[in-house]
Parts: sequence; structure tokens; C-alpha cells
Amino acid sequence: MAEARAETVLRELRQKLDMPAWSKSKNDPFKTLIVTIISQNTADRNTARAFENLSKRFEITPEALANAETSQIEACLRTAGLYKNKAKTIKHVSKAIIENLHGTLTPILALPLEEARKALMQFPGIGPKTADVVLLFSAKQPTIPVDTHVNRVSKRLGFAPATGDYETVRENLQLLYKPGDYLAVHVLLIAHGRKYCKAKRPLCAQCPVNMHCPSKGQWN
Ligand code: SF4
Repeated sequence: MAEARAETVLRELRQKLDMPAWSKSKNDPFKTLIVTIISQNTADRNTARAFENLSKRFEITPEALANAETSQIEACLRTAGLYKNKAKTIKHVSKAIIENLHGTLTPILALPLEEARKALMQFPGIGPKTADVVLLFSAKQPTIPVDTHVNRVSKRLGFAPATGDYETVRENLQLLYKPGDYLAVHVLLIAHGRKYCKAKRPLCAQCPVNMHCPSKGQWN
């Protein structure tokens, strides 16, 4: 049974990998949004440095960032990839939140999940992954954001079809797991993808779930 195998994989990953402390608290939605925009195609350390620079210079609120000069935001984000585009996105999305939502994401976060996703994705620079991250971590809504690690690991483990797109992977994972486990699934598949199930040369021999993986050893 696929569900039983998925449960076993999650149990093994919980035993072998740490859940970071930040993932257990309910985070400010606007800050989560800004961090997620900065993190696109950027290593965690550089994301953290860019966010710290931005926080030192500005209050992380829609008002402060909508009124900031784009060049000032850019200067804070230099450690992140594509920082010019990200600075523009941050300014635009901040302005849009003020103009359309009176400066707060709270009403959107309270909507039913699919309505909330659609509403968030109408803003410039917010795609499905960013919307799902904000909804999962700041509203505890039952969704599984699919980043590059979640996508790769899910497919190798046979939890989603090899050619599945974002929505297909998300739906397949959500059918396999209980909503109460979605956050752990997201966080632990990322940690597993970083430590063992690496993109180019996965460490299948050391992998804690290799007994349950149909792709084991394909790279030998
Ligand atoms: S056995 Fe290999 S391919 Fe399968 S999950 Fe582990 S590291 Fe990834």
C-alpha cells in the first residue's frame, strides 16, 4: 500500500533528520512572504543574510517596503540571486497589499485553502510555491509547498509521477499523508533532499529510507 510506505518513510525521516525550531512556530505572514521571495534560487545562508540586511534597514511591513526606493531594497539583497528582480517584486507586492488589502494579508489567510491560494497568486511575483509556503507556515492551512527538493525526492520515492507538474506532485503527496503531517512532510523531504537524495549524486547507500525507494541505486 502506497500510504503505508509513505508513512514508513516519514517515520524514518523524523527519526534521522531534525525539524528546525522555526518550522514549529506560526510566523508573521508578510515576513514569510518576503523571505520566500528572497529565497528563490538562493542558498539558505544567503537568504538569511539578505533578509537580515533588509530588516536592519527597514521595518518588514507592506508600508515600509512600498515606500522604500527599489535601489535601497536592492542594496540589501545583494547576497541573494536575481536581487534586482526580487527587489522589484517586493516593492510591487507591498504596494499591492496596501492598495488592495488595506496593508494586511490576514483576510486572505482566513479564506478556504483554494480561495486563499488563488487570491495570493493574483499578486505580482507570488506563484503557487510562495502561496503555499505562506499558507502552511503562517496560517497553518493544509497544503504542501513543492520546492525543487520536494519535487525531486517525491518522484524518486515513487510518491508522484516522474513527469508530474507542481499541482500533480502536491495533490499526490496530500493524498498520501494526513493534513496534520503536511508541514513535516515539506520540511523533512527538503532536509532529506539536501543531505541524502541530492540532485546529481544521491547517497543511496547511506539513505535512511533506501529500503522503501524504487529508485535506489539508479545512479551507481
Ligand atoms: S534511495 Fe537514493 S533515490 Fe531513493 S530516496 Fe534514498 S537517496 Fe533518494
